[in-house]
Amino acid sequence: MITKYFLVALGFSAIANICMAADTKSAFQWPQKIKAAVSLSYDDAIDSQLDNAIPALNKYGLKGSFYLKLASPTIQSRLADWRAAAAQGHELGNHTLFHQCSRALTGHEWVKPEDDLDKTTLAQLKNQIMLANTMLYTIDGKNARTFTTPCGDLNAAGENYLASVKSEFVAIKSESGSGIAPSMKTLDPYAINVLTPVGYTGKQLIDVVKAAAAKGTMVNFTFHGVGGDYLTTSKEAHEELVKYLAEHNDIYWTDTFLNIMKYVKDEQKKAQ
Ligand SMILES: [Zn+2]
Repeated sequence: MITKYFLVALGFSAIANICMAADTKSAFQWPQKIKAAVSLSYDDAIDSQLDNAIPALNKYGLKGSFYLKLASPTIQSRLADWRAAAAQGHELGNHTLFHQCSRALTGHEWVKPEDDLDKTTLAQLKNQIMLANTMLYTIDGKNARTFTTPCGDLNAAGENYLASVKSEFVAIKSESGSGIAPSMKTLDPYAINVLTPVGYTGKQLIDVVKAAAAKGTMVNFTFHGVGGDYLTTSKEAHEELVKYLAEHNDIYWTDTFLNIMKYVKDEQKKAQ
């Protein structure tokens, strides 16, 4: 009987060891002592990003992700500046050619009839998004790409287009929210929510990254104007955040969305 109980106990112990090994295997780990990853993104390819955001990032040695609307006037007028940003290590991402949004939605009266996502078919939009990737390749020579959805609107002529373009991208920022990922283990790389921090103070921006560190996940900011243009964050508030992140780079991993999501996908794969 003693032998039998001993064997049963041994069995439980072996199962417990296997479970512990499985737990270790499935735990999502950031590198070293990092508590949260921070993705600083900038949509629409507007002047104030080249004038204010990139110089602040360069001053503190951080990398951001710039989602170009390829029909933006700056692509022609300041192409050399975008090329220089890519050469400095910033990411150039896809934000479509024409930035179609749904004109029917409340508050979207500014959308021009020719840029109405409700009147763009899924096939047309997909072709345009793929052409945008080719254009980005001609600017920076890179193939791996991420995407942000214009206005967070997902229906091209009534059909959700995300599934049809997923295979072209490492990850997609698709919706508005708190910007803080609830869990890294279950995070869908193609449904990342972003915070658009219009008018935030430096302290408010820093509080957001502190909340992400407390959760141990990641935070995604999508800025537009920085010290100018529209949906603006002041130059001072933006720089206060960038400085804070650089000074606390032992806790916060600030990098391009592409680099962060490659790491996240590798960790998720290990856990499978
Ligand atoms: Zn946009």
